[in-house]
Amino acid sequence: MKLPHLVIYTDRLPGGVAGAANGPLVRTRPAYRSDAGLHAHEYRHVQQWYLASVMTALLLAVLVLVCGGVQGTLLALCPAALASHSLAYLLWPRYRLWAEVDAYRVQMRYGLSLDVAAVRLASPVYGLGLTPARARALLL
Ligand SMILES: [Zn+2]
Repeated sequence: MKLPHLVIYTDRLPGGVAGAANGPLVRTRPAYRSDAGLHAHEYRHVQQWYLASVMTALLLAVLVLVCGGVQGTLLALCPAALASHSLAYLLWPRYRLWAEVDAYRVQMRYGLSLDVAAVRLASPVYGLGLTPARARALLL
């Protein structure tokens, strides 16, 4: 069973990007509509978003309980849980690296070669400062 998400096809993406996931919303270029590997890559980011949201919500709930907060505080913090994956991806390069290595490993199960995945992971788009050789080692 797939987690709820929405895929839209659009060319309104940054240059050099075939797809992007923002929470449960996936944007994919129409030219990649039948690319099962790309869909799997982006869906992995959707799964990461759900996992980070749930884990952050649980952590916040525990903190509120331990600190003696009220339910209103927890509700006020819910948006933070939903933004945790996106914020970590944007601001924390090690998290972004983990997320992309995880997603490219999934995409490789659909036929993407290790060498091509390494070149893509080393792309400046991700801002990870990787060489293809280092990216290749991380993807093994
Ligand atoms: Zn990705």
